[in-house]
Amino acid sequence: MKSVGYAAQTSDKPLQHFSFERREPGEQDVQIDILYCGVCHSDLHLARNEWGGSVFPMVPGHEIVGKVAKVGSKVTKFKVGDTVGVGCMVDSCKHCENCDDGYEQYCDNGFIATYNSEEKQTGGMTYGGYSNNIVVTEDFVLRVDDSLDLAGVAPLLCAGITTYSPLRHWGVKAGHKVAVVGLGGLGHMGVKLAKAMGAEVTMITTSPSKVSDAKRLGADHVIISKNEDEMKAARNRFDFILNTVAVPHNLDDYSNLLRRDGNMTLVGLPAEPHPSPSVGVLIGKRRSIAGSLIGGIAETQEMLDFCAEHGITADIEMIDISTINDAYERMLKSDVKYRFVIDMETLSA
Ligand code: NAP
Ligand code: ZN
Repeated sequence: MKSVGYAAQTSDKPLQHFSFERREPGEQDVQIDILYCGVCHSDLHLARNEWGGSVFPMVPGHEIVGKVAKVGSKVTKFKVGDTVGVGCMVDSCKHCENCDDGYEQYCDNGFIATYNSEEKQTGGMTYGGYSNNIVVTEDFVLRVDDSLDLAGVAPLLCAGITTYSPLRHWGVKAGHKVAVVGLGGLGHMGVKLAKAMGAEVTMITTSPSKVSDAKRLGADHVIISKNEDEMKAARNRFDFILNTVAVPHNLDDYSNLLRRDGNMTLVGLPAEPHPSPSVGVLIGKRRSIAGSLIGGIAETQEMLDFCAEHGITADIEMIDISTINDAYERMLKSDVKYRFVIDMETLSA
């Protein structure tokens, strides 16, 4: 079927209008008309081939909310008109240890990403959510409560689950002191979610201009990371640190803030590596550093339900799709409040 969207044709050219074909929905597929798509920093990394392995043309976008337009004959969970979401994955092998355990994001055979992956059904590439529609096997489609602001729900499909999953995995709860590093798309969701889980939350930012926003979003305290005195005063304080920074930096500055047995989980994936962290800083208080990748499908549904229950959505700036390249430039300047979301009504045929 015919689709339109915005694509990167090469890693060094701006995204532009693009016409392409998607597979017709099969028996187990759901066809979705896209209403909104969030703009993740990963879209920029991939469109500019900063991680290697990018295939062009590429239609980015993995924070998708839309309405079901068609369902295959064997689809049981969705019907035409339902409000649904699609995140970073559209399929996985479904038989490895990790898929069996509900961790499709860690599929041993490689999950099928919403864009820039080889599609099982056609052998062609997957194309993402900067487009008018998408076809996804029903197991990778999420239910969305349409009492929420749907544009603000879109970023939950990546920024929301990527911060929810490590907070849950590391057992964040009332009484814990949690720090979130970087107030961008992921960071602002981290603050909201950690707060809703009952933690005492500190935002650590490079941007003094974001202090009042951090507090409005739910942070109990804010530290400016460039202020050495503030950083020193926070040593040995946190049970858990969620680090969302997208550029290489000295990890010791933050791991020093962990208390005994504290963990810092990295979710930012910079184009170049971080300087190696000091083993001494880790050993000195049995601290650990971990990584975390999005979350499984069942956990993503759990996160969406948690957000609906707590009235949590992203703080967004809605954009016209024709301004996507400016949005990327602003993202590089940390000038996002706090997620760009594309209004797909602005996409012409
Ligand atoms: P974003 O909106 O651009 O936010 C990143 C934030 O990092 C900025 O707003 C800024 O916050 C802070 N920052 C920027 N430069 C910095 C510097 N030099 N030193 C310290 N902090 C700096 O990006 P995002 O969409 O949240 O994504 C963040 C990273 O996570 C990206 O690398 C992305 O690819 C990755 N990601 C990973 C997963 C996963 O599954 N692990 C999923 C999605 C995204 P302040 O102004 O507050 O300092
Ligand atoms: Zn993302």
